[in-house]
Amino acid sequence: MKPYTDKAHIAVIGGSGLYSLEGMQMKESIQVDTPYGKPSGGIRIGQLEGKTIAFLARHGEGHRFNPTHVPYRANIYALKSLGVRRILAVSAVGSLRLEIKPCDFVVPDQVIDRTRQRPLTFFDDLAVHLPFADPFCPQLSRLYVESATKAGVTIHEGGTYVCIEGPAFSTKAESRLYRSWEADIIGMTCLPEARLAREAEMCYATLAASTDYDVWHEEPVTTEIVLANFARNLDNIRKIVREAISKVSDETECCCQQALRGTLITASSAVTDSDRERYGLLLGRYLKA
Ligand SMILES: [Zn+2]
Repeated sequence: MKPYTDKAHIAVIGGSGLYSLEGMQMKESIQVDTPYGKPSGGIRIGQLEGKTIAFLARHGEGHRFNPTHVPYRANIYALKSLGVRRILAVSAVGSLRLEIKPCDFVVPDQVIDRTRQRPLTFFDDLAVHLPFADPFCPQLSRLYVESATKAGVTIHEGGTYVCIEGPAFSTKAESRLYRSWEADIIGMTCLPEARLAREAEMCYATLAASTDYDVWHEEPVTTEIVLANFARNLDNIRKIVREAISKVSDETECCCQQALRGTLITASSAVTDSDRERYGLLLGRYLKA
């Protein structure tokens, strides 16, 4: 395992339409290799709002990875290996509620997993049962809400994000079903990203930028609509992310950074040397010698 480094404590993961952070003074771009392969691209380290941050474009340069093939495990592992403790994620979503209009923002507090083809966990060879009842960091989520309020945008605090496999958008029947489940927004990337961040004991919150009404309401969603409305909202997104970065504190009021405590059921006698090597960065402090 490569040595743990301490490059940045805060990371921003940008989704469709957010491939860089304006005003970020770049120091370096780091190519990280992980036991889970390579991340979506180089991880950019730089200064923004007086803080050192890491930026990663979720879909890679040129938007190469579709939501199924984003290397989520490599992305989160790579950020962890660079010392990141808090992740501010940004993603485009469709709205399943009339009151969440295109170009509104949502900071979800729940998620429903409708993905089918993505690795669920870092711990393929161990039994780790992670509590995930509250999938987002409450402290970072609150910070996002406060930052969006300060930016003067319409922000919906809390809500359920249904994460579909994609890459096609939903059918009308699916969209109606998710509404009947009381989901509020729909997207393709929140999982497994949020779950892996929790497994890596990092705080994680999502700023969801609403771009459309999915397919249940009037004009059905298209890629063109998504990108156009995201672009219209890009200045607001950047403003909110910058404000959040400026206010992130090192004081932790949440439990995200001890999320793995007591979660490993596998007996320590059954944990092999290769497990210790593979999972050392994530689970090391809980593996008895
Ligand atoms: Zn947290």
